[in-house]
Amino acid sequence: MKKLLKYGLLLILSAMLVITLAACSSGGSDESASSDSSSEGPTYKIATDTTFAPFEFENDEGKRVGIDIDLLDAIAKNQNFKYELQPLGFDAAVQALEANQVDGVIAGMSITDERKQKFDFSEPYFDSGVVCAVAENSDITDYEGLRGKNVAVKTGTEGSTYADSIKDTYGFTVTTFQDSANMYEDVKAGNSVACFEDYPVIGYAINQGQPLKMIGDVQQGSSYGFAVSKGNETGAKLLEMFNAGLTEVRDSGEYDEIVNTYITK
Ligand code: GLN
Repeated sequence: MKKLLKYGLLLILSAMLVITLAACSSGGSDESASSDSSSEGPTYKIATDTTFAPFEFENDEGKRVGIDIDLLDAIAKNQNFKYELQPLGFDAAVQALEANQVDGVIAGMSITDERKQKFDFSEPYFDSGVVCAVAENSDITDYEGLRGKNVAVKTGTEGSTYADSIKDTYGFTVTTFQDSANMYEDVKAGNSVACFEDYPVIGYAINQGQPLKMIGDVQQGSSYGFAVSKGNETGAKLLEMFNAGLTEVRDSGEYDEIVNTYITK
């Protein structure tokens, strides 16, 4: 019995050691991370958005976290590649990819036909779509209520494309912002009466206490994918690994664990 107890204690202690070591190694610097310092392969440059919770954001400890970040990390570990994360902002990330300044983008980036002309996407990893949000205390209940008013959007996003496509029909003007946080602020300040944003993101923001509410149906339903430049050899290799790793982290249950860390159903 005593022996058993000793053995059990040893097991617990070694498990704790493993957990501590893992925690130390994952607590690395914000801008870069690697799956295995001993591996020889290249370090891929991956661009992402700045604040797009729950997909990428800085937590209270100043660490960049989120579904995209954790998923990329899990896939990199699974496929044994290294990466350096560049939180450039959405529009800048997409432009950097187009200019081949980075090897890939993971930024809650919707897979669209237009983007497919320039980029190759991974298998979809998250379903999304655009929705309109107004201030919590707003009287606006539909797009007609936007007539003669101003609406906030984020440069280069699907929300922005959608707002542009209906602004003449509903007679509203559009102001663009570089990031989601400033877009929400503009609505809260009353300069804009609404914004167009991805529903999982606005839903998360509302859950976190942002005084906003969604109106109307979800538009432009599209899924997120990891993107690389078309016809780029490095990108093609990276995309292949991303897809292979995505399948494995899905099968292992790690994908669900990551999503559940940020989104409670
Ligand atoms: N999903 C949207 C798009 O691809 C917004 C992405 C983002 O703002 N990070 O346009």
